[in-house]
Amino acid sequence: MPNEVILIVEDNDLNLYMAKFLLQRAGFKTLEAKDAVNAIAMAKALNPDLILMDINLPGLDGYEATKIIKSISALANIPIVGFTAHAMQDELQKALNGGFVGIISKPLDVDHFADQIAEFLSASEQKIQA
Ligand code: MN
Repeated sequence: MPNEVILIVEDNDLNLYMAKFLLQRAGFKTLEAKDAVNAIAMAKALNPDLILMDINLPGLDGYEATKIIKSISALANIPIVGFTAHAMQDELQKALNGGFVGIISKPLDVDHFADQIAEFLSASEQKIQA
């Protein structure tokens, strides 16, 4: 699990900083993008193991970015986790329909955030091996 690369897509500096800090502390490598266009370019160039995708981004939103990433065959298997303050049940269903493997709600839970990411990673690895 350590050394797996997480692309954090988040336009809010504090959320970005917190996510980065907690993931690095848990042994992950991190990449960051503040909008969808940069996220797509970075995913293409660096093929991260998982993408944490803010839903509410300036310009293209997280749903649109995810749709584009999923349409690129080389990137289609990268698990994408939605990151949203609106983690209601209908948002979860919308996210699952939109190609996300799940959502993590804001404000992030500092004690469990890295474990949540690790769980999404191992779930998607098992799915690929199955
Ligand atoms: Mn945002």
